[in-house]
Amino acid sequence: MDGAHETLGMVAEETLDPSDWADVQTLSHRIVDDAVAYLRDVRDRPVWQEMPGDVKAFFTAPLPRSPASLADVYGEVAEKVMPYPMGNIHPRFWSWYMGSSNLAGALGDFLAAIQGSNLGGGNHAAALVDGQVVNWCKEMLGFPASASGTLVSGGSMANIIGLTVARNTKAGINVREHGVAAIEKPLRFYGSDQIHSCHRKAMEALGLGNQALRRIPTDASLRIDIGALRAAIAEDRKAGFKPACVIGNAGTVNTGAIDSLQVLAKLAHEEDLWFHVDGCIGALIAIAPQNAHRVAGIKWADSIALDPHKWLHAPFEAGCALVRDALAHRNTFAVTPEYLESAPRGLASGQWLHDYGMQTTRGFRALKVWMALKEHGIEKFGRLIDQNIAQAGYLAELIVDEPLLELVVPPTINIVCFRCRPGDMTGATLKAFNTEIMLRLQEQGIAALSDTTVRGEHCLRVAITNHRTRREDLDLLVREVVRLVREMGKPGAASS
Ligand SMILES: *Cc1c(COP(=O)(O)O)cnc(C)c1O
Repeated sequence: MDGAHETLGMVAEETLDPSDWADVQTLSHRIVDDAVAYLRDVRDRPVWQEMPGDVKAFFTAPLPRSPASLADVYGEVAEKVMPYPMGNIHPRFWSWYMGSSNLAGALGDFLAAIQGSNLGGGNHAAALVDGQVVNWCKEMLGFPASASGTLVSGGSMANIIGLTVARNTKAGINVREHGVAAIEKPLRFYGSDQIHSCHRKAMEALGLGNQALRRIPTDASLRIDIGALRAAIAEDRKAGFKPACVIGNAGTVNTGAIDSLQVLAKLAHEEDLWFHVDGCIGALIAIAPQNAHRVAGIKWADSIALDPHKWLHAPFEAGCALVRDALAHRNTFAVTPEYLESAPRGLASGQWLHDYGMQTTRGFRALKVWMALKEHGIEKFGRLIDQNIAQAGYLAELIVDEPLLELVVPPTINIVCFRCRPGDMTGATLKAFNTEIMLRLQEQGIAALSDTTVRGEHCLRVAITNHRTRREDLDLLVREVVRLVREMGKPGAASS
């Protein structure tokens, strides 16, 4: 005993904790003050800006071996990181599809990290917060309380959770024991030709292969063609495949099209298919009073993927998978190794949350969602969704009224696809011209749009998932686009 004590006494033990708590408290206050000001003044900064060469070079420095003061480290973050964001918290960021974060959520992320709990499971308050957020997600979508769910990193992982349960439930064999090679009739999944790319990755990861996901043509509104779907299912049955799952889109990423979920639910029931809904964009429209009717039928899904880091504006990352049959969900993932057995009391007496997905250790991502939902209440989030959808309609009107612009797809929800069309430009020239407009808008810090191609037509795409966007921002966008079209000169001057 004494000997051990002596040996230990030779070297002072180290810790990562600060040696001066008062000092770090002062610094922490400064960081919070800076952070609040950063968010307050976001509208005054460019949406995005290119990083100067010295900033890029800064991040090639080698592994730090010796210490620096936290104040110095923060100084580097303030100078080299904070001025060069992706830009999605800015009121004029409308690229791809992401939320715009919020302060309560950011504080939630901070406190979650301070508490540091592991949400793999256990009997502690963070696990109850996690479970409550999942329950609230069910409630928002009208899913039964008996359903299960899990918070994951985002929509891609939420989809793969749902599709894994679908595969295992419909395989006809014990896939967990024997693997996909033992499945007698090859499984077939169905989704529209507008389906998100994460489903392809999911099919590949599930060992079914990309070709097991049949892309069904869409109608004039870019919704899955139900007749074509029925025909594909019949054809596959005849050819010896086993139709297993249909994936409905509650909001496609290209244009926001919402498949007819009620019809798909009925069809899935008749055909004995698993009905999965990719609701990463639109599932939460269920809480928006003026638009909820668009996703009627979502509650009949067998599984749903939704994305609180989109229309609930949770700081990244936060996705959620819901599964109607809780037992099927648990049976897909639960494993109890000897080192993770439950105990009758104490820390290991809670539910094991890692039984509902692939992760063992899980972060406390629930807190940021929980705090923002409590602060604002669900009705406000619903109104904000309605607001974004109304704003997309407003932008579409501005575009229709502007002779230099052309609406490519009328918006159903919050995504507007349009293009600039000076003169009679077509094809590759038109695409290059519009790409140049998009890049100048970004480089001049005015607005962030992205682009896509719908039915062979290249277009600029504005996805308004942003609680800071105002109509005046959309007025400004149209004004600036028109200015750029003129600045780039007459038709044919795209490369000027
Ligand atoms: C965003 C999105 C996904 C992927 O979600 P992540 O959170 O980015 O992983 C899947 N499907 C649709 C329709 C999406 O919009």
